[in-house]
Amino acid sequence: MSTSPSDWEVVIGLEVHVQLHTRAKVFASSPWGFGKEPNEQVDPVVLGLPGTLPVVNREAVEKSILFGLVVGAEIPERCAWDRKNYFYPDNPKNYQLTQKDFPVVVGGQVEIELPGASRNVMGEHKFIRIHHAHLEEDVGKLSHAGSGSLVDYNRAGVPLLEIVTEPDLRSSAEAEAFLRSLVAMLTQAGVADCDMEKGQLRCDCNVSVRRRGAEKLGTRTETKNLNSISSVRDTVIYETARQIRELEAGRSITQETRGWNAELARGYVLRDKEDAHDYRYFPDPDIPTLKISRQTVTRLAKQVPENLYDRQRRYVEKLGLPYTAASVLVNDRALAEWFELAVAAHPTNPSGIANLVANDLLRDLAASAGAAGSFDEAAPAPVSLASCPIKPAQLAGLVKLTDDGVISKQQAKEVFAEMFKSGQDAAAIVDAKGLRQNSDTGELEKIVQEVIADPAVAKSIAEYRAGNEKAINALKGPIMKRTQGKANPVLIDQLLRKFLA
Ligand code: ADP
Ligand code: MG
Repeated sequence: MSTSPSDWEVVIGLEVHVQLHTRAKVFASSPWGFGKEPNEQVDPVVLGLPGTLPVVNREAVEKSILFGLVVGAEIPERCAWDRKNYFYPDNPKNYQLTQKDFPVVVGGQVEIELPGASRNVMGEHKFIRIHHAHLEEDVGKLSHAGSGSLVDYNRAGVPLLEIVTEPDLRSSAEAEAFLRSLVAMLTQAGVADCDMEKGQLRCDCNVSVRRRGAEKLGTRTETKNLNSISSVRDTVIYETARQIRELEAGRSITQETRGWNAELARGYVLRDKEDAHDYRYFPDPDIPTLKISRQTVTRLAKQVPENLYDRQRRYVEKLGLPYTAASVLVNDRALAEWFELAVAAHPTNPSGIANLVANDLLRDLAASAGAAGSFDEAAPAPVSLASCPIKPAQLAGLVKLTDDGVISKQQAKEVFAEMFKSGQDAAAIVDAKGLRQNSDTGELEKIVQEVIADPAVAKSIAEYRAGNEKAINALKGPIMKRTQGKANPVLIDQLLRKFLA
């Protein structure tokens, strides 16, 4: 029997490890940051020296709870840590502190958006369930050079939140969309920075296939340590094809742990799947069970920002924004909040404001800042609004001048560029450049009548009167010329139609 790929369904579950945005490490007081000399950010606890004891970092626990609240999870009354025992030089204690049985976050879901039919069309939305998230410590980094190996413990003890999904994802596109959403939620809530180049987000990707319509899940493989959205996507595509090929050849899938070579764009076997009992997990005797007070949860709930897609729906449905502008804005919380301040200052034209923010402002900010690294190579580089030369109310002022017919939309672009350079108000630039449109009806009426009387345009007038709408445009050039381009185009159009009727 021959089968086609469409006879198979792919099932994906992700385990996302994200470094939390905290000052200190998770069980020790040493700070952590990127780009330090090897072993500069260590202390006796991190190095596992005898006689030291871990102390739980409140900030790390609170960031974890905040994540839980962002995804609508249950925050348990208590959580606890276990020792995952293994012998490897990346961890001087020979165990990693993690949460096996009592994680800090249970359940929750992440809304995702699949690509729409075209750029301007909203795609399908879907919810991916979170199984749980647990707070653990990162381990050191080994580098193998020449005859020996070197170890850097700067990363050891950095707080890692491991977010585990249910096997709800059904395609590489869904996996990509999930990671985009998750990164937006983590960064917008200030839980994590998710900078790929700094290794702040790593992902294990579980993939299985089953016959379409089958209920039982197929045997899965787990590809470890993917550090970008594109490598997750490529792994899913590669594993799906490989597993289907194996099964169709009558072979079975081995449950194994795999690696991914991004350069060769292929996966490889690392080892047989390890089981929980291999690690001899047991409750850590040094860290007492942690009670999570409801006051803490209530306080943190106030820090949860508006959900990305709730904001997107609000922009489209309540503010009337085009879908594309809305989705650009909601991807960057600071930009969205900046936009909303401008709308508050000039509430009658949110789309006009969104257009300038999502296009001109974003472009100029991106050009003036160096692009930063991100887990999502396809996403625009995050911009900083802190040094933005234009204030929201100033942008609102520019849009108002356009809406009032003082300047044309074309001139608004020119004024915008000048505002970005000098930080001046739109009105001051319009005056200094003498851009103010002539909307003096009396004066324009006279000019319009003079132009109509000019025999040079008689042919166009006749054509217009014969029903050729476009012929009227031939009269606009001479009017603009007489007013040095300052005549209000809307008014001119009205006057021409009135006199030629
Ligand atoms: P373990 O603890 O052995 O790693 P879990 O049951 O906790 O296994 O699952 C780990 C991840 O693998 C989860 O994200 C889960 O959704 C995913 N997963 C489990 N079974 C499958 C499967 N058959 N196909 C794809 N993903 C799966
Ligand atoms: Mg696992």
